[in-house]
This record gives sequence, C-alpha cells and structure tokens, in this order.
Amino acid sequence: MTMKKLTKLIFMSSVTILSLSSCRNVQQPAAAEPDDFKYFVDQFEDMRVLKYKLPGFDSLSLQQKKFIYYLSEAALWGRDILWDQNFKYNLLIRKTIEAIISTYSGDNETNEYKSFLVYAKRVFFANGIHHHYSNDKLKPGFSEAYFAELVKGSDQASLPLKQGQNSEQLLSLISPIIFDETLYPRKIEQKEGSDMVAESATNFYEGVTQKEVEKYYSGKLTSDDPHPVSTGINSKVLKINGKITEEIYKSGGKYGKEIDNIIIWLEKAIPFADTETQKKEIALLIEYYKTGDLKKWDEYNVVWAKNTEPIVDYINGFIETYGDPLGMKATWEAIVDYIDIEATKRTQIITANAQWFEDNSPIQPQYRKEKVTGVAAKVINIAMLGGDCYPASPLGINLPNADWIRKEVGSKSVTLANITSAYDIASLGSGFLDEFAASPEEIERVKKYGDIAGALHTDLHECVGHASGKLAEGTDPAALKNYASPLEEARADLFALYFMLDSKIMELGLLPDENAARAEYDSYIRNGLLTQLVRIKPGKEIEQAHMRSRSAISHWVYEKGKAENAIELFQRDGKTYVKINDYDKVRSLFGELLKEIQRVKSEGDLEAASNIIETYGVKVDSNLHTELLDRYAKLNLAPYTGFVNPVLKPVYDTNGEITDIKVEYVDDYVSQMMHYGKNYSAL
Ligand code: ZN
Repeated sequence: MTMKKLTKLIFMSSVTILSLSSCRNVQQPAAAEPDDFKYFVDQFEDMRVLKYKLPGFDSLSLQQKKFIYYLSEAALWGRDILWDQNFKYNLLIRKTIEAIISTYSGDNETNEYKSFLVYAKRVFFANGIHHHYSNDKLKPGFSEAYFAELVKGSDQASLPLKQGQNSEQLLSLISPIIFDETLYPRKIEQKEGSDMVAESATNFYEGVTQKEVEKYYSGKLTSDDPHPVSTGINSKVLKINGKITEEIYKSGGKYGKEIDNIIIWLEKAIPFADTETQKKEIALLIEYYKTGDLKKWDEYNVVWAKNTEPIVDYINGFIETYGDPLGMKATWEAIVDYIDIEATKRTQIITANAQWFEDNSPIQPQYRKEKVTGVAAKVINIAMLGGDCYPASPLGINLPNADWIRKEVGSKSVTLANITSAYDIASLGSGFLDEFAASPEEIERVKKYGDIAGALHTDLHECVGHASGKLAEGTDPAALKNYASPLEEARADLFALYFMLDSKIMELGLLPDENAARAEYDSYIRNGLLTQLVRIKPGKEIEQAHMRSRSAISHWVYEKGKAENAIELFQRDGKTYVKINDYDKVRSLFGELLKEIQRVKSEGDLEAASNIIETYGVKVDSNLHTELLDRYAKLNLAPYTGFVNPVLKPVYDTNGEITDIKVEYVDDYVSQMMHYGKNYSAL
C-alpha cells in the first residue's frame, strides 16, 4: 500500500506554485498569458478554476480526433461513480443543488443565494460535500432555514424525490447531513486509535468496522503468487444478513449502469485506436468492466504499460487508493491524452544535436561524453479529465500501480504539459508577476516569451542536461551522498541555462531570438533568489532538491556577478527586487558553475558539493523571507486549482458521418458542472 502511494499521480496540492518532486517538472513558472487565451475561469474561497488549451489538436488526423472524442465520452461517464464512492449521500445532495440552480423561482441576487452558489461550487469542485484535500465536511455559508426555502421554491418535479416522497421528507434527510457538524464530519479519518472504516464518510464500506474488514481480507492479501492481483480494489464491503460480503464494481453489479455507458463509448473508440495492440488493450479493459475479474485488469495493464507507441492514450478505471482510509479501494478516474507532435519535434531537434551540445559544453574535456545519447521526451497534452482527475487534475502520470507489473513490464511516466503550463501561466498572471518582477520591460518580455522559453528550459534539462557528462575512472557514483540530488538538478538546469543564450539555439529554430532566453534568465534568477521562498514556512530552511538547486545557482551567480554589477538586488518602496544588467556575463557565470559542478560530480568531491549546497542552496534570509511572504499573502491566491474541460464537438456531414472534431473552450464553471450532471448521469 505504501508503495502505491509513492507511485501515485502527482496532484496539485496546497501550493500555488509548482512544488513537485518529479524531475520532469523542473519547468519554471515562466510566463503570464503570452497570448489572448484567458486561463482564469473562476475563484471561490480556497479554490480556483482554470481552463487548459489543446495545443496541436488540430494537426491530429481525423481518426485520432475521433478516438479522442469517444474516449472522452467514456471518461465523462464515470463521474457519478466517484461521487457515490466519496459519500453515499453525495448524489442526492448534488441533484438537489442542481434542481435549485436550474429552477429556483425566488430572488437569486441576494447575499444568501450567493453564499449558496459558493457552496454549490465547492461541492462540485470536491465531487461531494467533503473538501477534496482536507477531507473535512464543507461548511455552508447560509442557514438551514434558507436551504429549506430554496428547496421549496424550486420545481418539485426536478428534485430527486423517491416515489411518494415530498420535499419535506427529502429535506429532513439531507438537511442534517449538510448542516449538522457532528454528522459525517470527515471523508477520511485516519487518526490514531480511530476506527478508520466506521468513522470515515467514504462509501467503500457500509455497516462494518475496521476490524471486520481487516479480518475479511486477512487471508486474501497475503499470497505466494509472484503476480498478485490488486485484491479489493474494485468493490464495496458491506454486511448482508449479518454476513460480510463484497459488491463488485462491474456491468450488472455495483455501478453497473455507469460502467455500461463507459463500455458503450469504449466500444465506439476501438475502431479508431492508433494500433492493433491498442485495440486489443481496450477490448481487455471492456472484458474487465464486464466481469470485474482482477486478473483481467492486470492483463489489461500489462498490455497498456508495454504500449508506449500510441499518439493518443488514456487511463480509465478504478486506479488510485487515496480515497480509502485503508488504502485498498480505488476511486474511479479517467483522462484522455495525446502527444503534441509539434512540441515533440522540438525535443527531437535537441536530441538529434545532443553530441554538439556535449562537445560545446563549458565543462572540462575529460568529463565530456565521447558519445552521448539524448533522452527523447514526448510532450503530452490532456484532452479530457474525468472522475477523480476532474476538476483537480494531476500534473503527471506514473502508472500502472501494481508493483509486479512495474518491475517486470515497466510503467509509463509522463508530465501533462498543457495542464502544467496553464497552472504556471495563470499563477503568474494573477498579480504575481506585477508584484515581483523588477520592471515593466521584464514583465513584457516574460509575457511574450515565457511560455516557449520555460518549455525549452525543461526540454534541455531533461533531454540533454541529465544525459551529459561522465564520471572519472574509479569515482564512486554514490560519493556525493545527500548532495547528489540537488547537485544533479543544478547541473541539468545550468546546462539548459548556459545553452539557451547560445546562437545555436536560434540557428536550430528553438527560440525566436535572444530576448526569449533573457526572459528565462530573469524568471530563473527571480525565482531562485526571491519568489520560491514563498513556499517555505517561516523559520524553515530550503529542503527540496529542485529548490536547493535553484537557490544554489541563483545565489552563486549573484555572489560572483554583483561586483561588476552584472546582477543586482535593489529596493523600491521597501520591497526587494532583482535585476540582471549583463546577460552575457550571467551566462558565462552559469557556464563556470556548470564546469565546477561537473568536476565535483565527476570526481565525487563531497566537500566541494557540501560547500556549494550548504553555502548557497539551503539558508534563508529571515528578513527577506518575511517580506516575501507578506507580499505573497496580499495577492490572495487560492491554494487549490481545478480545471474545466474543453468541449469536443463532432462536425457531421449530410450523411451523418463525422468529418471533424472541433474544440470549444468553456468559460463558465457552473454551467459545465450542470451540463455534466444532466448528460452523464445514469440514475
Ligand atoms: Zn532534473
């Protein structure tokens, strides 16, 4: 179970700027709205909603677009499963909320109504009445009496009433659930000494205690099978006539109606799959959904994990176990993704020139690789988010979870480029850049180039940075101990930074001009010296490897560059800013530090490694830190981010054949939620 947690999707958490451990995510938050695309959609209490772009979608073939379209419908059809898994009254409450939003005849301009709407938005965001991150029940900002007024003032036929039930009876059931703080207070309760099953509101278990569940599974979880199935992942445990039993999630079983709809769309998708293997793979997934057979699930995952070729890919199933206090039951989730062919070409240009970069690197010749192979990276974009990936999306995927498949077959690990980029850009667009950038020119430049420059930094870091250099004969690869990781990140970052301002980059068409590289220099140094500190709690030092690396590079370069005024920290109205005055000088300092860090790595010079990291990478100036935290707090940025999906619209000819799939972007969060509630609900 712990292993699963480690291999989990990387989720957006309680920080507004990226703080990820995955190396693919070193990309700097770089730009603010480089074009007219408005990422921001909505914000309420601690949640913010953005939209994401689908770069390169139009250059996909019709077959690929259709494949994405059908998979997307399958991704949207499992939404109610997740709602019900999170808490058994979630759907009833959501349907009541939906009825109010669409039919309430009273005044919807009052403050109370606005409070109700904020509550509705939060419930939509959390896929239920418990906060998606803290697991606490959401507190309504309006009265129970007002809620009764709303329900009574809505079209009674639209309410989720059972046969013969009236709205009074509905209210007497759900009102206490919403308003009584002692009822179902936590979605997941893992407090020491608690009965995690009985005290959690999640719907994976009913009428059973933790002890009973553990006893039920005790014989089933230990096995000598070298290829054990993921026992318990797709079922609800409950007591029927005093006997503990499992309801399996499958066609004809628990969530059968939703699963049947998922199957319908998966079947439609099959003919448009990229390869024969992928057709076979989806057929296996359908068989699993029909039978609930976990052997079939593994069989499917083996084919899926091996299949690294397709342009269009997806996940769809009961996958992650964070929603279960015991870490056994999986919530339903889905995404559809595709390779951004244009952006992938960029990484291919870089890897094709890997040897040139190596030969022209500022490191000592004896530490260059005679023959370097770059790492080809695919740029993956999301086309649809569903289930537990919506609206709060992961930034990366690393699946499947089964340890034996990971070991024997491997796994797929990708970063979701368009999601990450929307996240970065919107974070800076929300007043962040205006607060921390040194000048209007700097802001202008980052707005114009930040997106492409940040992406190129990541590509150089990943595709050639980490791949470059070699150890001296006899050097122990583990010699740098705890400094190895931040130094390695610094080495890859420096490789990227050094080459970004090289004329070769413009020659290869990777950047339009040198100003793009300058924008990246500004962003990098500003982040390393100043803004990344807003993620550190007062009184703490820098611990995370990527953050140490950025801090070390920025402080080292500042230290060496300030005498000649190549780079300066200055004050304006009591606020600290950083400004680069001589970009070429800063570039040569990047080169100098790269040379030194390569030497340190190649020779396993632990003392020098410790010196660089401890002197420049760890410490935090407490006065500056307080100032930055204060400035950041005033921006009032919401800590949790979610996304609305685009709408994929088929275009038909007169014979009813699909001739194209058009992408439409959505600017209204509530109407997307209402649309999903109406059109993707099997009840
Ligand atoms: Zn890295």
